[in-house]
Amino acid sequence: MRRFVYEPACSRVVFGPGVARRELAAECDRLGLQRVLLIATAGELARSGAAPASLGGRLAGRFTAVRTHVPADTAASAAAIAAEVAADGLLCVGGGAATGTAKAVALESGLPIVAVPTTYAGSEVTPVWGLTEGGRKRTGRSAAVLPRTVLYDAELTTGLPAAISAASGMNALAHCVDTLGLPATDPVTALLAIEGVRVLATSLPAVAGNGKDLAARTAALYGAYLAGSAFATAGSGVHHKACHVLGGRFDLPHAATHAVLLPHVAGHLAGANPETMEHVRLALDPSAASAATALHALAGRIGAPLALRDLGLAQADLAEAIREVAEHTGLAQVDASRILRAAWHGATPESAGSPGDAEHLRGRWARP
Ligand code: NAD
Repeated sequence: MRRFVYEPACSRVVFGPGVARRELAAECDRLGLQRVLLIATAGELARSGAAPASLGGRLAGRFTAVRTHVPADTAASAAAIAAEVAADGLLCVGGGAATGTAKAVALESGLPIVAVPTTYAGSEVTPVWGLTEGGRKRTGRSAAVLPRTVLYDAELTTGLPAAISAASGMNALAHCVDTLGLPATDPVTALLAIEGVRVLATSLPAVAGNGKDLAARTAALYGAYLAGSAFATAGSGVHHKACHVLGGRFDLPHAATHAVLLPHVAGHLAGANPETMEHVRLALDPSAASAATALHALAGRIGAPLALRDLGLAQADLAEAIREVAEHTGLAQVDASRILRAAWHGATPESAGSPGDAEHLRGRWARP
């Protein structure tokens, strides 16, 4: 086996339906928190209010002006409220936007975060922060922003609308596929990622069939946790870099952009790394022709968006998008063009790799 380094970013994880309601106060006590600032959208507060309410007198204040991609002035307002109420900890309840706001406050203050995620974004287990200023999103890594404790409670996700569930689920799959596509990914992280693919491939269709199915929602959260954990150690590959460019430059929605681009990037990755994408195909659907077509079919089946044109990218902007993606990802112009043009139209992805003889791979990652 080749030399490798595995340095996980570790949060304490408490998993199970009802844990936010029942165990949040004890988890805050475990960290010695007595004055917690709650960060959540007003909608999330209305939906998940029972969990923060269980904190009783430990709840020092609320910040609800959460905005996606964490504008710098939003982060400054949240930090000011944290200081005003003399918070000794942060509780974020919601999607990646709420988690990202808590991270922005923690980056400056060092306050510990307790996270209760309600989408499949995975930010709650990464040390990655992001801040938007002057139309540009800056990102970085810091141990200070990694939540100390994460409570995964599927009860809080049964109301997540089908379209958001589907796009967010594809975002989680993108963490796995991008991680596996990186040549330097260590074998432990690869295991997390491939298991994440397998769990998400079965749970997301079940969630799409019945969003109230607690077992399916629990499995999808587990897949998102595995995906986020893999992404936390491996970092961004070509897929995330491309989505970052499209989101930042053309203001496209985060999870939906991941959903559209992923099958096409997987088709490209199969050319450079056919064996890895073969593992992905096996984990997704052994009867599919390729990982790319399996991802495209899954996205269609669960109701995720399939075309960049449906997300608001104008055809007139396509040439510039291709140039920018090529410049910031290291993709050849011709590859960026093939990926983005197919993604814009919502075409079935090309697959550079062929399924080949998969039997020799089964022992390593695929369950018998
Ligand atoms: P989001 O937080 O904006 O949530 C998406 C939508 O779902 C929002 O309208 C929200 O109000 C709604 N929602 C959330 N939970 C709900 C529930 N239980 N019921 C009903 N509606 C609910 O989006 P997201 O996709 O979760 O996160 C995207 C953000 O997270 C982006 O800013 C992205 O850059 C960031 N992100 C960061 C990392 C990281 O490691 N730092 C990883 C992934 C995403």
